Order: sequence, then C-alpha cells, then structure tokens
Amino acid sequence: MRNHVQVAVIGGGVVGVSVLYHLTKAGWKDVLLIERAELTSGSTWHAAGGMHTVNGDPNVAKLQQYTIKLYDEIEKISGQSCGMHITGGLMLAGTAERWDWLKMTQARGRYLGMELELLSVAETHKLYPLMDPAHFVGAIYDPIEGHVDPYGVTHAYAKSAQLGGAEIVKQTRVTDLKQRADGSWDVITSGGNVHAEHVVNAGGLWAREVGRMVGLELPILAMEHQYLITEDLPELKGQKEQLHVIDFEGEIYMRQERGGMLMGTYERAGVPWSPHTTPWDFGQDLLPNDLDRIAPSLEVGFQHFPRIGTAGIKKVVNGPFTFAPDGNPLVGPVPGMRNFWVACGVMAGFSQGGGVGLSLSNWMVEGDPGADIWAMDVARYGGWATRAYTNSKVRENYSRRFRIRFPNEELDAARPLKTTPIFERLQQDNAVFGEYCGLEHPLWFAPKGTPAREDITFHRSNAHAHVGAECRAVRESAGLLEISNYGKFDVIGAGAAEWLGSIMANKVPKAGRMTLTPMLNERGKLIGDFTMSRLTEERFVLVGTYAAERFYKRWFERYPPPPGVSVRPAALEYLGLSVAGPQSRALLQSVVDADLSTAVFPFMSFRQVDVGMVPALVGRVSFTGELGYEIWVAPEYQRALLDVLTQAGRKYELRHFGGRALQSLRLEKSFGTWAREYRPIYGAFEAGLDRFVDLTKPAFVGRDAAAQEKAQGGARRLITLAIDARDADAIGDEPIWHRDRVVGWVTSGGYGHTVQKSIAMGYVESAVAGETSDFAVELIGEKRPAIRLTAAAVDPRGTRMRA
Ligand SMILES: Cc1cc2nc3c(=O)[nH]c(=O)nc-3n(C[C@H](O)[C@H](O)[C@H](O)COP(=O)(O)OP(=O)(O)OC[C@H]3O[C@@H](n4cnc5c(N)ncnc54)[C@H](O)[C@@H]3O)c2cc1C
Repeated sequence: MRNHVQVAVIGGGVVGVSVLYHLTKAGWKDVLLIERAELTSGSTWHAAGGMHTVNGDPNVAKLQQYTIKLYDEIEKISGQSCGMHITGGLMLAGTAERWDWLKMTQARGRYLGMELELLSVAETHKLYPLMDPAHFVGAIYDPIEGHVDPYGVTHAYAKSAQLGGAEIVKQTRVTDLKQRADGSWDVITSGGNVHAEHVVNAGGLWAREVGRMVGLELPILAMEHQYLITEDLPELKGQKEQLHVIDFEGEIYMRQERGGMLMGTYERAGVPWSPHTTPWDFGQDLLPNDLDRIAPSLEVGFQHFPRIGTAGIKKVVNGPFTFAPDGNPLVGPVPGMRNFWVACGVMAGFSQGGGVGLSLSNWMVEGDPGADIWAMDVARYGGWATRAYTNSKVRENYSRRFRIRFPNEELDAARPLKTTPIFERLQQDNAVFGEYCGLEHPLWFAPKGTPAREDITFHRSNAHAHVGAECRAVRESAGLLEISNYGKFDVIGAGAAEWLGSIMANKVPKAGRMTLTPMLNERGKLIGDFTMSRLTEERFVLVGTYAAERFYKRWFERYPPPPGVSVRPAALEYLGLSVAGPQSRALLQSVVDADLSTAVFPFMSFRQVDVGMVPALVGRVSFTGELGYEIWVAPEYQRALLDVLTQAGRKYELRHFGGRALQSLRLEKSFGTWAREYRPIYGAFEAGLDRFVDLTKPAFVGRDAAAQEKAQGGARRLITLAIDARDADAIGDEPIWHRDRVVGWVTSGGYGHTVQKSIAMGYVESAVAGETSDFAVELIGEKRPAIRLTAAAVDPRGTRMRA
C-alpha cells in the first residue's frame, strides 16, 4: 500500500469503485481505494442489479442515464463483462392516478431525451404475457432498462481505475481518521497508515461508522430488503428475456433471472437493519428471510402475475442497504470540514453509481460537480436530521417507494419537529401546515369548523377556493404571513461590506437599505439569491433559502471573510411575520412610532423598529409584489408580535395567508425562487436577474462568466406563460412546446387567483423566448395552449410595492 496519496477512497462497493474510476479519468492518478474485505462486501454483492432512468428529479434522471451508458465504456476499458441485460422495462399502472403519473413521466422524458412510450393494457399484455390485464389500465415502456451483474460492474470499474493508475487494497480496514493541521488526513488502517490529502467516505453500510471517525452523524439508515427467485418457468425457455417490470399497486419489481423470475418488494412494514451501529464482522452475509412481512405484497403480485404465483420459490434474498431520509444519495464535501467527501446513502447503485462517481470526482478535481446535483448534495441536511428523525423518514420513504407523491402532499413522519412559538396559535386558526427542513409552516387556512386537511391530487384541491380568498385579501386589503422558514446569516465586522461585494453579484446597499442579489459560482451560474440588508455600516443580515443554509455555509468557507468579519447562520434566531397589501402600511403605522411614509421609509428600507413593545428589524419588501413589510424578531417576541399585529389588523380586515397563496401571488408577479427558477444550471441573464448583477463592480465571483453570458445572450431564457388549463395547473418539470417542438420545461406553476389565470414559469430556448403565441404546456398528458406573458400578470411596473 502506498503511504502517501492524493485521495483515499474508503469502501469497495459499486459506489467507491465508481468514484475511483472517475478520479483517474479526470486525471488524478495518485488515488487509493481501501476495502475492508473483498470488493462488493457490503450491499453490492447481493443486489438485484436492476437499473432504470426514471427519477422524480430531472437532474438525477440525467445522471441515471449517464450511469447506464457508462457500462459499455468500462467493459471496453477493463475487458470485464458487466453482465448487461438491456431488456427494456415496463411501469404498470393499475389506477387512474398512476396512469396520470405515467403520462406526466412520459412528458418529462421528452426534454430529457428519453424515449418513453405509453401503452394500452392490450399492448402491454402482448409484451408481457405473464400479467393479468384485468388489474391494469396501461403502462409506460422504457427501452433502456434492464439489469447488470453487480460483481461484474464493480470489477469493471475497479479494473478500469487500476488501468488508470489507481491502487486497490483489500482485506484492510480503515479504523480511524486523524486530520493534520494542513487539512490532510492520516488514514489509520489494519494494514498500516496512509497519509492522504483527501478522504472519500464510500463506506456504504458502514458509512455511518466512517463518519463517526470524524465526529459526523450522517443521516443514513439501512433497511432490510427482500427479493425471491422462482423455480424455472418452462414457458420462458427459448423466449426473449422478459422485460424489467414495476407494478406500483403491488409495490413490486420483477425481472427474469435465468429460467425463473426475480420478484422484489418495498413492503409497507419495512424494517431497519442495525439502526445504531453496523457490525464490522458483517460480510457477504444474508439476513434471515421473513416472507410473512412481504406476504401482503406477494399476494397482490401473485394475483397480478398468476403464473409466478404457481412457480415454486427457489431462493429468497434478504439484505440490507442504506437510504438517506429522502431516498437520494448524500454526495459532496461536508460543510464545516476540510478535504472530507462523502458518496453514500446510494440506494440504487446500479442506476446512480456512475453519476455519483462523476459528480464527486468533478467536484474534487474541478471544484464543481459539473451538474445540478442539489437533490443529492450532502449539504441539504442540517442538524435536525438526527438519528431518530432519519429512522422515521427512511422507514416512511421505503414504504412509499412505489407510491405516488402528489404535488400537494405533505408527509407525516417525524412531525412536528421544529415549531415556532406561534405554531399553536396558527393551529387554532385552522392552519394546514407543511414541513420544510423539519420546520412546520402554514400552507393555507381552512375555514373554521372544517378539517384542516388538504385532499391530495394532481388537480386543484379543496384548498383552491380558500387560497383564492387569501390571495384576494392580500391584493385588496392586508394579509399576514409567517416567514420564519428562510435561511439567514448575520455578517458583522469591518470589512463585511467589501467581502459581501466580492461574493455577491449586486451592489452592497447603504446602511438602512436592502438589495436583492444573486450569488454566482465561477461559471456565472446561480447558486443563491438573497436579500442583503444593511443595518449599520458593519452589520448585515442575509435572507435566503432555509434548505440551502449549509450549502451557502460551505460556499462561504470556500470564499472566507477576512479576519474580523464573522458570518454566522442564524435561521431560527430571526423569526418573521410579514404584513402585505394596500392596507399594510396603515396597519403597521398604527402600532409603531417611527414614520413609515414612503418619503421616510421607502421601498427596500431596512431598520430597527419597535412594533408595539417588540424590538424588531423591519424591511419594506414583500414577495407578494404588494406594499408590504417583513418583520424579524427574536423567537421570544414572536407571539407578542402576532398579538399586536392581529389586534391592530382587525380594523384593516387583516387575514392570514400561507405558502400556497404566496406561491400564487409571486407567480402573478413573475418572481422566481430558489430551487425552482434559480439553480446552478441557469445563469443570471438567462434567469432575467441581470438587473441585479452589477457589472460595473471590478470583481466578484462569477463576474466574467456573467458578463460573457450577457454578451452572448445565454442558451435559454426564463419566461412566464398563461396556460389555458382545465382543472389542473402546472407543478414543475412539464415540457413546454412551441408549435411542434419541445423547447423547454416548466420550473413552477399554479393558479393566479387574482388574475384568474393558470400561470407557469419556465426556461425555453433563447430562439423562441421572444415569441408570444403558439406555446403549449403538457398538463397530465394533455397539451394545453399557452401564451407568453410579456409582462408580469399583476402590476408589471411595480408601483404597488413602491407606493
Ligand atoms: C437485496 C437488495 C437488492 C438490491 N437491488 C438493487 C437493484 O436492483 N438495483 C440497484 O441499483 N440497487 C439495488 N440494491 C442497492 C445496492 O446494492 C446499493 O445501492 C449499492 O450496493 C450501494 O453501494 P455502496 O458502494 O454505496 O455500498 P456497499 O456495497 O455497502 O459498499 C461499501 C463497502 O465499503 C467497505 N467498507 C466500509 N467501511 C470500511 C472501512 N472502514 N474500511 C474499509 N472498507 C470499508 C465495505 O466492506 C463495503 O465493501 C439492492 C440492495 C439489496 C440489499
């Protein structure tokens, strides 16, 4: 074993070897993989090897496509077969909702370059005679699905990496990790020590234990997972290999395994494995079968595929594999740590392992993952993702693996966890809550005496009319919204303004003012959007996306402030309420001494103001596009703030509104939001944020790339469409057509209640961005005509918010 390397990868499962291969491919040859036993000795060896391209996140779907295409490449380099069987796959729908979901999946595949085909039951039955058509309504066919040999894939990656210069050491366990002052690592192993500049935790089933070596409790948990293999079915003999099949209603997946069939299930009563510690002596072991646990799924499966029910069971496999709370991998550099990277929680290693390896190696070598991998970024979880939280969410996620997540559906596990002091008050007012990063926040308010519950649907829900009333209140009089669910940073010190000027794209405001500012990466892409508020010469408050707080933190570690400037995450230290609407000034003025007239407190002002008895920071801004104020207070004051505003609000017909109304109101204003319109695949010019990018500043991160994008016009543009919708609005990721071509995709959509239009925002190719007509958006499988709005649907000149 080498005693000094650039990178030590811990773990020789399919993920570790993929990382190793991609590092060598990117030119880092001085790399070492350390494996406790033999390659594949964790989850990998007993995987069913199934692979598919469909994923709820389009960016992850692209990486899955990449993974499957990679197998040819590593086979060629290594000479090792991956045992590829590209059989094609079917996803079967047994209900109308699932059929809608398939239509939406097919539509999304259009701009991802996927050739998904919708089939009638009769067509499906022809392709898959093992099914009983009586239980189904149709299917989607994907030509590039199938399965691989886990051993073959792992060794093909490994040999390819070795041919690229990597070393692989087996039968050697990493027992500890010690960081040196320069950020490099002493990797302590059972076979001696190695000094490594970087460490990658690809420990799979033991990734938690490897994390603990450096004081990290990673939010991952292994679940037991069972599949069975039947005796040979004579009718399969001499036939083309059976397709890979997912039967959502049965919650089962199936494929042919030699002469028999392999059937696996994500049962509802899933069981975690080794919830606290993974034993080091667990090797290529299987867990005891528990067919009773999966019996309900098997029963449905045997009804749906009667022939399989009559075949004897040859073998049952029960093995553990790991999940993060949302089922997506954990990838990237860990915020707050130097040179420590993770590639774990990968629950679909044969669909995702290649994409994970590519992203992580890009990140290490180029400083950027090279794709939008927000859905997999380890930074998306914060301190709230405790072991018990993870346990609860992983079990929920596992049990829902084949269930539809409706766009308006809130999941129940691990709730409530974080609440603000006014939670119970809002409950009394019949709020329907959503959960975001563990925090409860109001989505809308059901009328008194009715259940605070939203029916889950792809169509407009029972909330529709009530959200409409909330929107009208904001546009016509005044609304009150809890806004605690934003990320905040305190930036304090001499030199704070210069530092912010160097990492934010917009001008730094003067004291008492705030600005909107994008944050760009070196390639000029959007990695954040903030309101940057300056209280005094040396004190700033940044307000951005709560979910991205650790993502921002990691960026601030990359471009650290100078000595004397402190940057501190402070999300729940400032809790907020917003009052918005034409009456909001009169209302707020009635409880503060300070003069709130526009002459004294104009749009984008930011000051310390006492609201009643409550000391607060008040910004004159509202995401609704109305005259409005954001009021930030320490948590202990939030209840008093609510009281003073609601009492004063009686005179002004103040009513609550929630996140759903905010979404509608901001769409009417064509205001974009992070993770939707603003993501690292879009540039500021493309996103229409160029007025917030101050190219007169001599230098800031991403400046040159932003200038170049502006000069060249960008590849695409963010537009707003009004859709001739029926009873369903866009939700995001639908294809946008122009005439007979797909020219882009929706980033968010909804109903604009006060303009009574179905609105969507999305990106289209620059060439058609100037067109106004002949657009269409595919809503639940139906191409609905749309026109581009040349200006925001409400108050395009922004006079109301400046009034
Ligand atoms: C029954 C079953 C069926 C499955 N079916 C599919 C499927 O059809 N399709 C699919 O895509 N996925 C499937 N999976 C999931 C798949 O197996 C995983 O996604 C994948 O194996 C994860 O790989 P990994 O490299 O992250 O982890 P692992 O395979 O667990 O590898 C981790 C490796 O790290 C080593 N290691 C850990 N700690 C140390 C240390 N301190 N020192 C040295 N070495 C260390 C371990 O020995 C191990 O070899 C299935 C899983 C199971 C259990």
